[in-house]
Amino acid sequence: MAKAQYVYQFGGGVAQTTVTSKDILGGKGAGLMEMTKIGLPVPAGFTIGIPACEEYYKSGRKLPKSIVEEVKVALAKLERTVGKKLGDSKDPLLVSVRSGAARSMPGMLETILNLGLNDKSVEGLAAKTGNPRFAYDSYRRFIQMYSTTAMGLSKEPMEEMLSDMKKKLGVKNDTELKADDLKKLCEEFKAFYRQKKGEAFPQDPLEQLWGAIDAVFNSWEAEKSVTYRRVEKITDLKGTAVNVVQMVFGNKGDNSGTGVCFTRDPNSGENVFYGDCLINAQGEDVVAGIRTPLKLIELETKLPKAYKQLCQVRKTLEKNFKEMQDLEFTIEDEKLYMLQCRTGKRLPAAAFKMAVDMVGEGLITKAEAIARITPEQVEGVFYPIIDVAAVGASKLKELKIAQGIDAVPGSAAGKLMFNAADAEIETKKGTKVILIRRETSPEDVGGMFAAQGILTATGGKTSHAAVVARGWGKCCVVGCEALDIDEKAKTVKVGGKTLKQGDEVTLNGTTGEVFAGALPLKKPEQTKEFKTLLGWCDEIRRLKVCTNADTPRDAEKAVELGAEGVGLCRTEHMFFKDFKNPENSEKRQLAIQEMIISDDVEARKKALAKLLPFQREDFKGIFTAMDGKPVTIRLIDPPLHEFTPKDDAGVQKLSKVTGMSPEHIRLRCDQLHESNPMLGHRGCRLCITYPEILDMQVTAIIEAACECEKAGIKVHPEIMIPLTIDKKELQILVDQSRAIADPIIKKNGAKFHYMMGTMIEIPRAALLAGEIAEVAEFFSCGTNDLTQMTLGLSRDDAGRFLPDYVKAEKEGGKAIFAQDPFVSLDQSGVGKLVKMAIADGRATRKNLKVGICGEHGGESRSVKFCHSVGMDYVSCSPFRVPIARLAAAQAVIEEKAAAKAAKPGAKAPAKKAAAKKPASKAEKKAPVAKRAVAKKPVAKKAVARKPAAKVPAKKAKK
Ligand code: PEP
Ligand code: MG
Repeated sequence: MAKAQYVYQFGGGVAQTTVTSKDILGGKGAGLMEMTKIGLPVPAGFTIGIPACEEYYKSGRKLPKSIVEEVKVALAKLERTVGKKLGDSKDPLLVSVRSGAARSMPGMLETILNLGLNDKSVEGLAAKTGNPRFAYDSYRRFIQMYSTTAMGLSKEPMEEMLSDMKKKLGVKNDTELKADDLKKLCEEFKAFYRQKKGEAFPQDPLEQLWGAIDAVFNSWEAEKSVTYRRVEKITDLKGTAVNVVQMVFGNKGDNSGTGVCFTRDPNSGENVFYGDCLINAQGEDVVAGIRTPLKLIELETKLPKAYKQLCQVRKTLEKNFKEMQDLEFTIEDEKLYMLQCRTGKRLPAAAFKMAVDMVGEGLITKAEAIARITPEQVEGVFYPIIDVAAVGASKLKELKIAQGIDAVPGSAAGKLMFNAADAEIETKKGTKVILIRRETSPEDVGGMFAAQGILTATGGKTSHAAVVARGWGKCCVVGCEALDIDEKAKTVKVGGKTLKQGDEVTLNGTTGEVFAGALPLKKPEQTKEFKTLLGWCDEIRRLKVCTNADTPRDAEKAVELGAEGVGLCRTEHMFFKDFKNPENSEKRQLAIQEMIISDDVEARKKALAKLLPFQREDFKGIFTAMDGKPVTIRLIDPPLHEFTPKDDAGVQKLSKVTGMSPEHIRLRCDQLHESNPMLGHRGCRLCITYPEILDMQVTAIIEAACECEKAGIKVHPEIMIPLTIDKKELQILVDQSRAIADPIIKKNGAKFHYMMGTMIEIPRAALLAGEIAEVAEFFSCGTNDLTQMTLGLSRDDAGRFLPDYVKAEKEGGKAIFAQDPFVSLDQSGVGKLVKMAIADGRATRKNLKVGICGEHGGESRSVKFCHSVGMDYVSCSPFRVPIARLAAAQAVIEEKAAAKAAKPGAKAPAKKAAAKKPASKAEKKAPVAKRAVAKKPVAKKAVARKPAAKVPAKKAKK
């Protein structure tokens, strides 16, 4: 058997491996290998693959001997290729030792530069280059990095020594320090090291190398990396690779520099070269935001030859990868070296622009463009912006307190927090916060994630703050130099004002402006490219996408977002709020309460008669918004006690309307109380007991449809019976509905056709779907209740303990489920029932229409499942309609690719972009749709039945 390979070599223009997988080489290693292959200027080096990291941990944080031997061989080859020896005292080979996981984890994993320098080789470097300043600057950087990264000393003391020296010499920038100053600094650092560690700073280059390799592997399990992976829901990565690469120097003087750039603008998506650079600087200086960098275009005048070459590299890389690339480069004495390339993170609207533009440029196909977009990007298109009209343009000017660099667009308002811990604590209390820092570092990631927006005093568009915030689509302003921050006192002086912790500000990440106070925000318009790409999705998807809408306003919004019908109208929500005439809301509430507490049928009918015109008006509004599209209206669903008055004032009001005594009302409310309402008198059981409710609702639906038809609106009503458990139960209610509907249609001479169907949301209904389909013309899978009842987990309460089921073992969870089953459909369990119900239902009724209306109908993975089991449509909240359109199209693309791959002799398909990242962020962050729902001013209990942050399909009880 061939010996397993762990180390992969590149250099001298040759990539000595056929392995290209990021899962083995890591993103950085794979990029270096690929760039070498296509002839770009890459320094020589080797990659210790991710499997070696796994072995390292298996062996108790130690590299197995065989891998150590492989590294030694690779180092010897590297030395031969370069013609220098690591740490040689006359002409040393210096290397960078850099991390690289399969997916980018910005700033989370460690890097050590200038390795190989010691007291002798630094002299050799100085002599060889004739540049002692450069040599000692490199050495002091190495001592700093190695001491903190590999040897565990804290960063601050050496940073302070550096800044003390600058202060003493009266200089502002590191570049102003002379060779002797830097040499002195190295001595101070080493003395400090000896004092702390009780031994001299390591001088043996090989010892340094092994220490650095260990440091990179160890950083995989460092607290910040583990937190980042948890926040980002990264569960599929196995470790980091280590890239050992010949150093090239951007800090050799004014003919040298370093930079980070994107082949297209990651914020706007424009096809322009975009980035930051620093002259006479090294590696992390740009990303760390220590000096405010230059715009990339300034290189054109400062180092024209290298800039021209860089522009050529940009073209070559886009052609090769057919994707926007995020690049790191160094220029040493005007010669360009590429140090990294990877698919660049981008803002949501930019993702659409790039994908659509690249189709136009002939770089990719429409299918590739669709596959590239993630559900999070669709969601992110709805970034909030400042409502200038509400604030007033001149007032806005007055409120402006500072101008920074527009790092990540969108707007955010909240209370200032000066450190990550405070930001996290306050956010947990429900406060909206803005994290303000001089510069952020990876340790801040928890607070950055918690904050609404991020504001820093230093840094450019590729600083740590900007890169991390962009990944999340979080508003971010950087390089706001007017901020004089006192992190200890938790105050900031700006424009003559002093703001303290808890004071409110608003950021405009699109312009870089900072305003005093929390300004009103609004959602922006969709871009042209967003519409174009979703239009392409519509061309290829098979699944229809409908919406869950209870009001004409929601229905209109959903149509704007591409809904092809209403898949679920929860009629009970209409009992709480009159959106058109809010003054009528109380009348509606009192009428439903009167109906509920009625002692007899007559009294109930009287109360229902008051509700009828309200419902009819609402249905007319929805039919009008949906002109020509199907509208599925569900009859009353929740337990009646959800509607009873909850306080004394409510009881008094109802007493006035009904003439009943308050005592009697309270007695009726007590009678209606159930200990387990989710399994109580709800759904169609209500209409079995109180048929007059069904009579009123069906009358309202059919009369509304007749009136709309007369007004020239096309109507396709579908009446849906909820929580059915038996064919006979359904038959009774369908017969009763037809007995009400048909005479109304006849009387009006109406022509429309209506359908009668049911929800499949109780396991018994799924099990008996074959029989139920004898009566039902359509099924709508109510996977909120179906999940609750199949798993036997309360949709109200499971959020408290489900994290233990979902979290990875490493994070203290048990990893029993890959996802929260109320968020992403439990395909193996609930999905099995759904599949069975569809098959049995269609065996009875061939043309049975089947859809889904649980929250899963707007979740990407679940939508793909719905496609795979042959549903006709999915239905979801209005703002998730575009996510469903995208997922439905991706399902077709993935299905085709799988069929192609399954053909004999076919090559394994390339991993699709869409499948690369688990669609977890959409569920993790409260999506726009959820937020919008939560804001709905309907009565409290009914709101609780709508999606909440953790358990989206929440239902009220008690
Ligand atoms: C369901 O149970 O999936 C459903 C859509 O109904 P509700 O959420 O109103 O119970
Ligand atoms: Mg339900």
